[in-house]
Amino acid sequence: MACMRVAVVGGGIIGLSTAWQLALEGVEAVVLERGEAGREATWASAGMLAPNLEAEPGEEALLPLLLESGRMWPKFAEQLEELSGIKVNYRTEGAMAVALNRGDVEELRFQHSFQRRLGLDVKWMDGEEALEMEPNLNRNILAALYSGSDHQVDNRLVVKALKVALQRSGGVLKEHTEVKRIIVEGNRVRGVMADGLVIGADYVVVAAGAWSRRLEGIPDNAKPPVRPVKGQMLSVKTPGNNPLLTHVVWGPTRAWGMTYLVPRLDNRILVGSTVEEMGFDKSVTAGGLMNLLRGAWEVFPPIYDLPVDEVWAGLRPGSVDDAPILGPTEVEGLVMAVGHFRNGILLAPITAEAVVKYILEGGLPEVAQPFTMNRFRKEVAK
Ligand SMILES: Cc1cc2nc3c(=O)[nH]c(=O)nc-3n(C[C@H](O)[C@H](O)[C@H](O)COP(=O)(O)OP(=O)(O)OC[C@H]3O[C@@H](n4cnc5c(N)ncnc54)[C@H](O)[C@@H]3O)c2cc1C
Repeated sequence: MACMRVAVVGGGIIGLSTAWQLALEGVEAVVLERGEAGREATWASAGMLAPNLEAEPGEEALLPLLLESGRMWPKFAEQLEELSGIKVNYRTEGAMAVALNRGDVEELRFQHSFQRRLGLDVKWMDGEEALEMEPNLNRNILAALYSGSDHQVDNRLVVKALKVALQRSGGVLKEHTEVKRIIVEGNRVRGVMADGLVIGADYVVVAAGAWSRRLEGIPDNAKPPVRPVKGQMLSVKTPGNNPLLTHVVWGPTRAWGMTYLVPRLDNRILVGSTVEEMGFDKSVTAGGLMNLLRGAWEVFPPIYDLPVDEVWAGLRPGSVDDAPILGPTEVEGLVMAVGHFRNGILLAPITAEAVVKYILEGGLPEVAQPFTMNRFRKEVAK
């Protein structure tokens, strides 16, 4: 096993986590990253690990995978911190979704009954209880949902830690190395072409996020149906001695979208996020920021006076059914780890485990089995 070589295309959270876990198993894992590792969707993310409050009708099939990965996160974070010596600020205060008018209350009621039917850890609170937990929210809050099982992590610190952990486990990260082509001979992957060189590999793992479909050399029947879905965000600074918020807070649905606030331990509050079909355009727009601020101010009026710290946008890798694509393809040795859409930070541990299991044992964990490329083939055949 020690001489097995795996090339991972893309150094976002998915590629780095997968390569790290492969390296821990003694596999020779090399990550090829076009730019700086973790600077695309992974950088742009809010780091919420939130399968409970975010559960919506239509996503029932994905839920077991999200919950399983959520259960894996505490150990994943602990192992990562231990090996890298870098804290990733895994936080367990929980998340709440608030209602400001009667319509919002009805929407929360609907959401709550759906989530309870699925056995999720979501509790109903009246406005007073919500304000006790978060006294700086809008005083007109009528009701809220709270989940103590929805956690968060600092995704940028996770990247920093993963880079160290990967190298300390014997893996290799090559940044500024663009994969120009995946080399397939007959029906078997042979490696990748990067930096004008052929890098031979027994397995190639595609983890190139929103760009995965653009990789050359993948036959049409193995190309993952993934597209970019833009998300804009901003952050504000809180006074050093007062974080103002301690829980993740979701505002109600509005015509301009939905807003959430994520307090961080480094005196920032992140505000996200737009969901836009804009191709590969990553520009931050006045309209995008306006919508985010409008939503944030409605829920959390003190934001008005806080200094803006940063604005940014990233591209979520969205698949046709918004669920990830994991495991084998029609090409022997070509493995997918793409399409994580809004949940790539949450899904990193289970994705890494699924790819490791597939490469070492030839099968996927049961919970990951519905998420192979096969599901699209069946749809075509119908
Ligand atoms: C605004 C926003 C908020 C989000 N919030 C959350 C959240 O709260 N919780 C959550 O779980 N998820 C969240 N997500 C989703 C999450 O960030 C993504 O699902 C996840 O980061 C995807 O990781 P990835 O490694 O697949 O992709 P990426 O991080 O995009 O990494 C792909 C990498 O591949 C590289 N690459 C591409 N082509 C090549 C090539 N030819 N050769 C070499 N390298 C290549 C890219 O440079 C990039 O670094 C959010 C996303 C956005 C945009």
